[in-house]
Amino acid sequence: MMKAIRVTEFGEHDVMKVETNLTVPKPSGNQVLIKVSAAGVNPVDILIRSGNFFKLPVLPYTPGLDVSGVVEEVGSKVTKFKKGDRVFTLSTDTGGYGEYTLANSSLTGKLDDNLTFDQGAAIGVPYFTAYRSIVQHGKAQKGETILVHGASGGVGLACVQMAKARGLRVIGTAGTQAGLNVVSSVGADVVVNHRGDNYTQSIIEACDGSGPNLIIEMLANVNLEKDIKMAAPRARIVIVGCQGSGEINPVVMTKELTVQGIALFGVPAEDLEDMHAGIREGMSAGWLQPHIGHAYCLEDAPQAHNDIINTKGATGKIIIKM
Ligand code: NAP
Repeated sequence: MMKAIRVTEFGEHDVMKVETNLTVPKPSGNQVLIKVSAAGVNPVDILIRSGNFFKLPVLPYTPGLDVSGVVEEVGSKVTKFKKGDRVFTLSTDTGGYGEYTLANSSLTGKLDDNLTFDQGAAIGVPYFTAYRSIVQHGKAQKGETILVHGASGGVGLACVQMAKARGLRVIGTAGTQAGLNVVSSVGADVVVNHRGDNYTQSIIEACDGSGPNLIIEMLANVNLEKDIKMAAPRARIVIVGCQGSGEINPVVMTKELTVQGIALFGVPAEDLEDMHAGIREGMSAGWLQPHIGHAYCLEDAPQAHNDIINTKGATGKIIIKM
């Protein structure tokens, strides 16, 4: 038997309840069964739990996409993994907030020995999103300046590390001094508070007046207009997070800007392989070092969901330890 969070109705964070007498699932086909060590909490988990995502699971369900742990058993078609392998996932079939989960082997990766299981729970969604944004769509080039607009959370810190490793000059923003310190500690060249007065001017000055060549945006409904104003001519603005509508203006034409959205769900198979390769390279080179902001126990999963949304001032990835 196993323990996991179960959700029987969509709603506020208190709809998540711990159940202790659940059956451990059996892997089939391409699935791997993972004994979970830690699970990452992503903002999309909250959208799903509250019933506000475009694709919702059948109730009851267990939340959680990113886990780290050890392979316990594999399905008949799995050749890449064996019992005992240390792994991480970027999605699960049966939910990550529990002692065991099933994941498709194509959405599972080997966890490098130089990373802890806590760090492993912070790889999937954050680093694969960073790779899709910076490399596959952002087409980052060595020597360019990148602005990570919202760098203190899971995706933002991954973007800072990935951009530094690829030879870019990195400007990262956060909303608190504690967040700025973390962004700085993972390698950003310049940090700016996105709650400060006239902070966009500081960013333009940090680019010698010319603006960033690439902007990774975590809150486009608030920031897109500012991004368009700050961007260098022919810059790319990649939208990762957006919680409402925003304005687009003619400067997009005069500067010949590219405004591109990205989505981790439904990535084509060949792009997924390229993402896995990029993440493997990051682990073996050592630049991929997830920074954990706060760890909760399984019983405190509702608190973790509350905090990721309502605490102003991210300082890294939020995880749940089994
Ligand atoms: P997170 O860990 O909760 O971090 C949120 C980040 O947004 C923090 O750095 C926060 O900074 C920043 N932020 C808050 N207000 C801001 C503002 N006014 N301007 C700029 N940044 C601001 O979340 P995450 O996992 O990094 O994800 C970030 C966003 O990307 C979320 O909206 C998430 O849903 C989205 N996302 C989308 C995809 C996709 O496929 N498109 C994939 C993953 C994530 P402070 O707390 O320091 O203010």
